Amino acid sequence: MTEQGGDASKGIDVTRPSVARMYDYYLGGKDNFEIDREAVRRVERAMPEIRQLAQENRAFLRRAVRHMARQGIRQFIDIGSGLPTVGNTHEIAQQIVPDARVVYVDNDPVVLQHGRALLATDANTTVAAADMRRPADVLRHEETAKLIDFGEPVGVLMIAMIHFLTLEERGLVMGELLDALPSGSRLTATHVTGDGHSADAVAQIESVYAATPTPIYFRGHAEVARFFEGFDLVEPGLVTIDKWHPDPEDPAPTATRWLYGGVGRKP
Ligand code: SAH
Repeated sequence: MTEQGGDASKGIDVTRPSVARMYDYYLGGKDNFEIDREAVRRVERAMPEIRQLAQENRAFLRRAVRHMARQGIRQFIDIGSGLPTVGNTHEIAQQIVPDARVVYVDNDPVVLQHGRALLATDANTTVAAADMRRPADVLRHEETAKLIDFGEPVGVLMIAMIHFLTLEERGLVMGELLDALPSGSRLTATHVTGDGHSADAVAQIESVYAATPTPIYFRGHAEVARFFEGFDLVEPGLVTIDKWHPDPEDPAPTATRWLYGGVGRKP
């Protein structure tokens, strides 16, 4: 995508880096601008393994979606789904549950545009424009209503998302989601951590994201675990994602240990 592809009338802001477009660049995609790539280069200076981290995160997503589908989850809400990539949530889930339904939620105009184009002909998937900080907008969205039956368990994904919430937002957002979900629902999330890493690197990365509409917060294990309050973490609990059910048939890149991840079940 070139700078000319940015179109203010479609709400595309090219004056600041966007996390969706930065993440696309981490994964080797083409839907990003120079301002995003420059931000990525700054992140890369503090965290040379950032691309590996993005791949590791996608590999966790695949394992967790397969796990949920095998446990009988047939409907998913993927909050902050990002730009379409290889192995999207519905493709993974539908390998196990052929009629699995997936609502993709995002608030980035580029993500919404591409998602709608890609999924237009698939009756079991849809795209909802909503902000995760307003869970009611996600849960009561008309696209959500089309596919999600709140009478049966829902798999909620917040992969590489919850680190964009402040501690104040954590209570409100996670509490509202927990209340809305029926028993047996799952929450799957990953969150960046500075545990075991240099405080300098963390500060540098936080400062890059502070210049985007989406500041990021690196947190320790106990703070991250609190996002799962009210859910029972399935084995092995909240761990760096390399430790979460590694799959020899779908190997992840070498562990970066920059991300905690887990799956919680609502009792
Ligand atoms: N979940 C995907 C993509 C993560 S990138 C994965 O793990 O591979 C983060 C995504 O979250 C971006 O697409 C960004 O647009 C979206 N996002 C950031 N803040 C958001 C918010 N408040 N509400 C909805 N989406 C948001």
